[in-house]
Amino acid sequence: MVVDVDLKPINSDEVDLKRPIIVAGPCSAESEEQMLETAKGVAAAGVKIFRAGIWKPRTRPNAFEGVGTEGLKWFKTVQKETGLLVATEVANTKHVYEALKYGVDIIWIGARTSANPFAVQDIADSLRGVKIPVMIKNPVNPDVDLWVGAIERINNAGIQQIVAIHRGFSTYDKSIFRNAPHWQLPIELRRRIPEIPMLTDPSHIAGKRELIYDICQKAMDLNFDGLIIETHCNPDKALSDAKQQVTPDALKEILGRLILRDPEVKEQLMLSLAVMRDKIDKLDDKLINLIDERMSIVGEIGEYKKDNNITILQNKRWDDMLKNRLTLGNKHKLSEDFITKLFSAIHQESINKQTTIMNEG
Ligand code: PEP
Ligand code: MN
Repeated sequence: MVVDVDLKPINSDEVDLKRPIIVAGPCSAESEEQMLETAKGVAAAGVKIFRAGIWKPRTRPNAFEGVGTEGLKWFKTVQKETGLLVATEVANTKHVYEALKYGVDIIWIGARTSANPFAVQDIADSLRGVKIPVMIKNPVNPDVDLWVGAIERINNAGIQQIVAIHRGFSTYDKSIFRNAPHWQLPIELRRRIPEIPMLTDPSHIAGKRELIYDICQKAMDLNFDGLIIETHCNPDKALSDAKQQVTPDALKEILGRLILRDPEVKEQLMLSLAVMRDKIDKLDDKLINLIDERMSIVGEIGEYKKDNNITILQNKRWDDMLKNRLTLGNKHKLSEDFITKLFSAIHQESINKQTTIMNEG
């Protein structure tokens, strides 16, 4: 895969984009005044790339579905008056043609679209021979392969300026987030395609403005390349995603407060880090040996259940066990969420092992 790490947008050689790359602007374009006032605010906060949705994918019909092509003219005003680069979401070939016709600098593929290979392929085909940076949001479902697939489709169409956007994932579980961040997924994407710049979208992860700063800081501490933050001149009156948008002043305050840590470990720090990491490696080795020991007992129990015709799962045993592990974990200040995930994984693997034993012979 040829991915160009230089994010310099095509139409504007002089824009200097350094980490963190910040994209900011409203969820939706609503009026020329709203666009311009917000754009001036984000430019004053030091931002170089302005976002606004022209066509909005809404969960239910009859919600505000974007102003459509009309809004593309307002981008021109923003470009002219502020010098900002402008970015919008495209979900089909018509959107691509319209966005290109009106000189949009950067396009992005939304989370619902990147989950659909047919739609991504159509967009890719309409981009053949075009030079424009494309940002690709993670699909709504937590599937790294699907995200990689969308990136490959766009890359195969000849687009080299590709950026990934981590915007969180839909889940059934209740959580403080609108979309669960599942940080291990963008981390895995970067392991597979290390050259791809990664932006985090704290707005769609959080769903509420109070959580935005912490998510931004976490993305920076994971050495991601930037952030895309929904910003509106009057957030409470926004026609979409009102609760998660911040004012340009709040954006400036968030960006000002971010701590940018060093991604490289300096020589003199390397030694102490190596000593501590060595301890971790040894402990992990012990942990795996313990799990192995536990698994052989799981196997013995499996044989016993098979010989005595007992079901693998007994609800009460699992319930008692989890409660007990939560209490133990609590004494060591290990979070309920972590203990539940850890023991659910161990329990699932034990069930798998016993299922194999039951079906043998
Ligand atoms: C958006 O950026 O406004 C948007 C619709 O995002 P997502 O595709 O992440 O839901
Ligand atoms: Mn939005």
